[in-house]
Amino acid sequence: MAKSPEVKLAVFGRAGVGKSALVVRFLTKRFIWEYDPTLESTYRHQASIDDEIVTMEILDTAGQEDMLQKEGHMRWGDGFVIVYDITDRCSFEEVAPLRSLLEDIKKPKNVPLVLVGNKADLDHARQVATEEGERLAAEMACAFYECSACADEGGYVAEAFHELCREVRRR
Ligand code: GDP
Ligand code: MG
Repeated sequence: MAKSPEVKLAVFGRAGVGKSALVVRFLTKRFIWEYDPTLESTYRHQASIDDEIVTMEILDTAGQEDMLQKEGHMRWGDGFVIVYDITDRCSFEEVAPLRSLLEDIKKPKNVPLVLVGNKADLDHARQVATEEGERLAAEMACAFYECSACADEGGYVAEAFHELCREVRRR
């Protein structure tokens, strides 16, 4: 039997956007309110995606690395989740620079990416319209999900990770 493919995924975004909460939600289907914000962890996870078993290594970055560490993480990854918080416009404004850095580092390849607007449950505090997320994702030619690590009825968190695996496997 062929060895199951392995993909390395890294999660990027400003500190506090919910990277750890999203990763934990994806891995355990649970929400954990407080998660050490300085913690950087990698997890292994297997899932069946389109009838193929895929092994994922997921790096949950702390979001406060220096440039050298950040570049190291970018070199390591095959695919990237860029997360912003829909209630934090600054986090949205950090998406494009992160993406340019990725493009620079992965050059000449184009980089498998998904864009996630997290904390969709906090619609009353929204600072970034859904259409803005959609427009940015269209510019970056990547998939876009608005989701919530704490109220993920639609299963969009897993969908985002699975779509990223597919994107990596297509290359
Ligand atoms: P990280 O720094 O990007 O890893 O962010 P964390 O996962 O540590 O989350 C930062 C804060 O946002 C924590 O207080 C979480 O409980 C909260 N949080 C994360 N995701 C969500 C979400 O989808 N909805 C809400 N309401 N809070 C969230
Ligand atoms: Mg974290």
